[in-house]
Amino acid sequence: MITRRRFIKSTSAAVAAQGLSRRMAPGSHVAVIGAGVFGGWTALSLLRKGARVTLIDAWGPGHSRASSGGETRVIRASYGDQKIYVDMVARALELWRDNERKWGTKLLIPCGSLRLRKDDSYAAVAMPLLRDAGLAPEGLSPDEAQRRFPQINMEGVGWAMYEPDAGYLLARRACAAVYRAFLEEGGSYRAMAVRATDLEDGLPEGLFLSDGTYQLADQYVFACGPWLPELFPETLAGKIRPNRQEVYYFGTPVDEAGFGDDRMPCFLDGVVSPSYYGIPGNEWRGLKIAGGSPDAPSFDPTTGDRRVSPKLVDNARKYMAMRFPKMKGAPLVESKVCQYESSPDENFIVDQHPSASHVWILGGGSGHGFKHGPALGERVAATVLGERPRDPEFSLARFHP
Ligand SMILES: Cc1cc2nc3c(=O)[nH]c(=O)nc-3n(C[C@H](O)[C@H](O)[C@H](O)COP(=O)(O)OP(=O)(O)OC[C@H]3O[C@@H](n4cnc5c(N)ncnc54)[C@H](O)[C@@H]3O)c2cc1C
Repeated sequence: MITRRRFIKSTSAAVAAQGLSRRMAPGSHVAVIGAGVFGGWTALSLLRKGARVTLIDAWGPGHSRASSGGETRVIRASYGDQKIYVDMVARALELWRDNERKWGTKLLIPCGSLRLRKDDSYAAVAMPLLRDAGLAPEGLSPDEAQRRFPQINMEGVGWAMYEPDAGYLLARRACAAVYRAFLEEGGSYRAMAVRATDLEDGLPEGLFLSDGTYQLADQYVFACGPWLPELFPETLAGKIRPNRQEVYYFGTPVDEAGFGDDRMPCFLDGVVSPSYYGIPGNEWRGLKIAGGSPDAPSFDPTTGDRRVSPKLVDNARKYMAMRFPKMKGAPLVESKVCQYESSPDENFIVDQHPSASHVWILGGGSGHGFKHGPALGERVAATVLGERPRDPEFSLARFHP
């Protein structure tokens, strides 16, 4: 007798060999677990493509422990030679703009983004891809960069790249806006946790929920961010590691307007090691600075201690005093401990479970996923519905060449 588990395994193998999943009938039912930026946009995109969608989240869209929580995220298109991400950001910029217009909500603040480098080696790699994607990056000498951004000390900078189309996104508000649109456009939402039962076995009974009921669907997309390795301990062993990150907001001096988003771009500082990045504070919050932790320890997203470390705050202060002299000694006015869910090569994971073709894993944002939300959601929806092949760059198989 062929068991359900063996049947799932054999059909998955046949489908996987073709790179395309089975084309789903219009109106088929997809359950998306996780209402962060990945799951929220995937659910909305599936709905807009005609699927029936149930979105399930234990704590809500963009909640405080989620990787998509907090105030802001950088959106910039420079990704070295990684064309797939450059093209996705170009598409994401269009979709963020289209949808914020549609919803009458400002979510993308186009203050530009400045990448600081020791030399111009990045120019030949990154700039042609940005131009091909219809974006208009500007290479700046240190003197030009200094004239343009006098609030930034260009010490050690050999070359800079300014992206005028870039800026920052309002993170938790964007998740809430996507969720509202999902409900208004006909999606169903369940505030429930999915229990980690039978997930590695292909969900023969459907999803077992925290209220003791089951949720059945034709396809299941698990977009559970840093919680994914707990749910799929066999499949994701060593493939996604939640790790601890700190974010600071420093108060700006009185009468110093140079740190608002009308004059200050987002910045990515690749001159210093470890690198730092930052965002002008949304709604007068102060200057946001993050990064500076290359060997970030593992972190439990449910129970991890979210108090910042005085040593890391001091490190950020030293960096800030060098790069933003007018911010020397500035008070820490807000802070947050968050987590990345990093894959070994820091690329996303979008793939079918190796034993069950109707179970999808979507995650591995690796500290750079937020900006891609709408473009990734659109891509994943088309892949799950069998309209386009899976991207080999995001496959699980890449870890076992
Ligand atoms: C400090 C920090 C700074 C960052 N900066 C940037 C940046 O500047 N630019 C950028 O593009 N990206 C950035 N990122 C990365 C980006 O925010 C993440 O890649 C992205 O938010 C990941 O989204 P997600 O939907 O995969 O995960 P999450 O937002 O964590 O969503 C997962 C959801 O799944 C739910 N869930 C989990 N388990 C279950 C279960 N069993 N049942 C039901 N629901 C469940 C959770 O409640 C959660 O809501 C940053 C991340 C952090 C933490």
